[in-house]
Amino acid sequence: MDISIVIPLFNEAESLPELTQWIQRVMTQNNFSYEILFINDGSTDNSWEVIQNLSKNDPAIHGVSFSRNYGKSPALNTGFRKAQGDVVITMDADLQDSPDEIPELYRMITSEGYDLVSGWKKKRYDPLSKTIPTKLFNATARKVSGIRNLHDFNCGLKAYRNEVVKHIEVYGDMHRYIPYLAKNAGYTRIGEKVVHHQARKYGSTKFGLDRFINGYLDLGTLWFQTKFGIKPMHLFGLLGSLMFIVGFLAVIIVLTLKCVSICSETYHFYATKSVYFYLSLACMIMGLQFFLTGFIGELITRNSPERNNYLIAEEF
Ligand code: UDP
Ligand code: MG
Repeated sequence: MDISIVIPLFNEAESLPELTQWIQRVMTQNNFSYEILFINDGSTDNSWEVIQNLSKNDPAIHGVSFSRNYGKSPALNTGFRKAQGDVVITMDADLQDSPDEIPELYRMITSEGYDLVSGWKKKRYDPLSKTIPTKLFNATARKVSGIRNLHDFNCGLKAYRNEVVKHIEVYGDMHRYIPYLAKNAGYTRIGEKVVHHQARKYGSTKFGLDRFINGYLDLGTLWFQTKFGIKPMHLFGLLGSLMFIVGFLAVIIVLTLKCVSICSETYHFYATKSVYFYLSLACMIMGLQFFLTGFIGELITRNSPERNNYLIAEEF
C-alpha cells in the first residue's frame, strides 16, 4: 500500500464527507493505493455515524473511536500503530489542510529520501492572536530542538516514512513536537513543504490559549528528557555542586569575619545579621535538595523498562 492517511478528529461531522471525497479524488487521479484511518477522539456530535456511513462506500476507509476525548496526540498515536502504507500522511479533519498536497509530499518521501516532511502554513488564515504566539513558539522550538530548517512544527499536515511512525510515541500533547521526537529517534532527514492553508469552514478550533503555556511546558519536558532522561544526576548533581560551593564559600566568609571580630575590640560581627549567613544556609539546603532529586531520578531511570531501548539502524 502506498499511503495511509491518518485523520484525528473531534466533533468535525460537517467537514468529513467533503474531506473524504476530496481525498478519494486525489488518490484515484494519482493511482495511489491507500487507506484512510479516521480516529474519532470521543466526538459528541454524529462524526462517528458519518464515518461509518462513508466506510460503506469505500473499503479503504477505516475508523477507530475512543470512548472519550483523549486529545490529538493519543489519536495520532493510535493511527500510527495501525498505519500500513509506505508513506503515512497526517492531516486535520477541518478542511484547513488541502489533500492536493498529498502527491508532492509522497514524492518527497519516496524520491527525495526524507524521513519526515512537515507542512509549512506560510500564509495562514488564523486570527493574529494565534499567529503571533505561534511565531514565537516555533522560534523557541527551533532553538531547543536544533531542527533549524522548520518554520511550522505544529502543522497538522505531515508525511512520514512508515518506519518513522512505528518508532515514535506521541503522548500527552506532544503532537506539537513530532519532528523533535523523530529527530531523537535518529530520523534526521526532516524536510519542509509550503502548504496551502484555509480558514476553518465548519465548527471551531479545539484548542484555546492554554495551548501556548502547555506547549512551552511540554518543550521543557522534552528537552530535559532528551538531554538528561537517563542520566538525571548529570544535571542535578551539577546544580547541587554549584550551590554547595557557593554555600561553602559563604560559610568561610562568615567564620573568617567572626574570628576577626573575636580578635578585634572595635569590630563586632553578628552572624545572624550578615547576608552571608543566610546565603550559606539557603545554598546548602538547596544544594542538598538538588542532590537528592538527582539520586531519586537515577533510581527511577534504573527501574525504567526503557533504559536500554536503542533503535538499531543496521546489524549483521
Ligand atoms: N482534535 C482531536 N482531538 C482534540 C482536539 C482536536 O482529534 O482533542 C483534532 C481536530 O478535530 C482537528 C485537529 O485535531 O482535526 C486539529 O484541531 P483544530 O483544527 O481545532 O486545531 P487548530 O487548527 O485550531 O490548530
Ligand atoms: Mg484547524
